[in-house]
Amino acid sequence: RDDMAQAQLAMLDKVNDLKHDAKLTTERNQRIFSRLEEAVTVSISPLEKMFENIGLSTDKLLEDVKSGYSGTGGPLTPLAISTRGKSEDATSIAANNLLEKMDKVNLLRIAAERTPIVMPVHSSYRMTSGFGWRRHPTKGTGRMHEGTDFASNAGTPIFATADGVVVYAGWSNGYGNVIKIQHALGFETRFGHLSKLNVTKGQRVSRGDRIGDMGSTGRSTGPHLHYEIRIGGKPVNPMTYIKAARNVF
Ligand SMILES: [Zn+2]
Repeated sequence: RDDMAQAQLAMLDKVNDLKHDAKLTTERNQRIFSRLEEAVTVSISPLEKMFENIGLSTDKLLEDVKSGYSGTGGPLTPLAISTRGKSEDATSIAANNLLEKMDKVNLLRIAAERTPIVMPVHSSYRMTSGFGWRRHPTKGTGRMHEGTDFASNAGTPIFATADGVVVYAGWSNGYGNVIKIQHALGFETRFGHLSKLNVTKGQRVSRGDRIGDMGSTGRSTGPHLHYEIRIGGKPVNPMTYIKAARNVF
């Protein structure tokens, strides 16, 4: 009888040890996952902050990026850890939260690639006129300046600021030689007063492609680039985008 009691006690000890080990493992996993989540959050926050500073809703951007992908090769989202048949344990929940966050970083990066957030001029320049209302010095009337002007030497290379398709490349009153590029997420960029056009209508361009040269064609008093960003046709301040991205990239 005593032997039996001893054996039972030993067994109980063993069970308790195993329970204790399991608890330690779970705690260790939780610590690992919170470290990983912290690391992913470090990548998400600046991107979220950038879009927030621009005034774009990240929820809407993520939706647009996702829907853009739905028809082309399946979901981007990594497969969630299956908890089928069991109640969800803490480790699976933590793993799935982490996968969701990693998916978000991925989508935010794609959105950033498609948003015109970089400078169209890579060499030195002077910003000669900002975006917004210009008051006529004597008439007292105003006129909207729908872009930002960057002045430099004639022939200065001009670069695409996001991937897109050229929807216009030619002459337009006021703009002179102008390139209009349509991008994903409803963006359009325009580059005016160019001396030379390196692209044609229908051409696909990538961010950083040299699309033309600075000039003084159209309504212009000296070599400069008139650069516009439009969302759904409405002009927005390009410097808001460029400044917001400077803190991230
Ligand atoms: Zn201008």
